[in-house]
Amino acid sequence: MIPQKGSAEDLTSTAVEQKIAEQPALSNGHPNFHSNGANGASTLPGLDASKLIITRADPTVRPVPDEATACSGTETICTDHMITCSWSISTGWSAPELKPYGPLTLMPTASVLHYATECFEGLKAYRGYDGRLRLFRPDLNAKRMLMSTLRISLPGFDPAELEKLILALVAVDGPKWLPRSRPGSFLYLRPAVIGTQPQLGVQAPKEALLFVTASFMARLDAPSGGMRLHTNPDDMIRAWVGGFGYAKVGANYGPSLLATNAARERGFGQILWLYGPEGYCTEAGASNFFVVWRTKGPEGRLQLVTAPLDDKLILDGVTRRSVVELAREKLAGELEVVERKYTIDEVIEANKEGRLVEAFAAGTAYFICPVSQIRHRDYDVHIPMVKGESGQYTSKIKGWISDIMYGNVQHPWGVVVDEQQ
Ligand SMILES: *Cc1c(COP(=O)(O)O)cnc(C)c1O
Repeated sequence: MIPQKGSAEDLTSTAVEQKIAEQPALSNGHPNFHSNGANGASTLPGLDASKLIITRADPTVRPVPDEATACSGTETICTDHMITCSWSISTGWSAPELKPYGPLTLMPTASVLHYATECFEGLKAYRGYDGRLRLFRPDLNAKRMLMSTLRISLPGFDPAELEKLILALVAVDGPKWLPRSRPGSFLYLRPAVIGTQPQLGVQAPKEALLFVTASFMARLDAPSGGMRLHTNPDDMIRAWVGGFGYAKVGANYGPSLLATNAARERGFGQILWLYGPEGYCTEAGASNFFVVWRTKGPEGRLQLVTAPLDDKLILDGVTRRSVVELAREKLAGELEVVERKYTIDEVIEANKEGRLVEAFAAGTAYFICPVSQIRHRDYDVHIPMVKGESGQYTSKIKGWISDIMYGNVQHPWGVVVDEQQ
């Protein structure tokens, strides 16, 4: 018998896709709905940014440190405020709050602490050279957070409302924490959802908390000498077909630290995660990974290659997507953009034959970060950096995206924040 859609063979992906489609807010506006497992859709209140309750912090309590000081300690320095919004299965989403940054209260039996019912997002607010404050494609982060949230059976919401809440936090804290006197600087925004129900037992949480913080984060996009990658140990993988590597759920990250720490002890920055006996290249740490090479043969064509999304092994990065779209638009005729499975052996072969042109990691935290070396088992791939600390396409692409983020060009991807002065 041919399996039908919805059969046991594709239960998980079908369930997540169906749940996303079930969020009526995406098509109908308010009132929005949630659904949680067997309880189905209801008409309880959805996430609603227009209900935001604002409690201002005393602005004199927390001075703004300079970037170097802020990033030198062992604690993330957050801004004056945070957003929180609680949910319960019986009352839906409460009115969201913008309030002074501070600790959360959780019971030791809270679902997130035992069953990894947590997902998150990462995006930045950029102080432009034109004085304005922008987010970069925040709609994509909000949609991805909905997908991750549903993947771990936390409550759905209208992603447009989450985007408004993120904008509200940046509108309030932006002027002080990302002053116009610091063009070219950024804050890191961290939305997250956690299961808070204080009950042990493996089940979908009946209570949850959504929160958003804004903080300093070090610049990671230009390590001296380029980023050095080490492939994962043979007996360890980051994600697998049928797993949840495509979702930004906390459960993907804790278990990766063992390999990352071992690589760091050997002087490498991140793991290049390979998959399967073929050794398919997937991601570099928590960034997507790109190589530029020439195809074999006398008329070798120039290609920008990255792993595909369709097997759901890798995260659908906003930066990755932007690189792919911009390269297709601006480098057409010069370089072909290819999303396909490719192996570490192909990279090594290209390197041995002098066809490897450059490589970079792409993600919000590391932005576009040139890669100079990959160690696989005992073999070292040394990657050219013709522009000194970067390859030429890496540097071009980085420049285009950076111009959008910092307002050197006006582009629909750069969403201007209406700041509260
Ligand atoms: C967050 C993340 C990325 C990058 O995604 P962006 O949307 O570009 O920040 C890539 N891979 C993994 C595993 C990630 O967690």
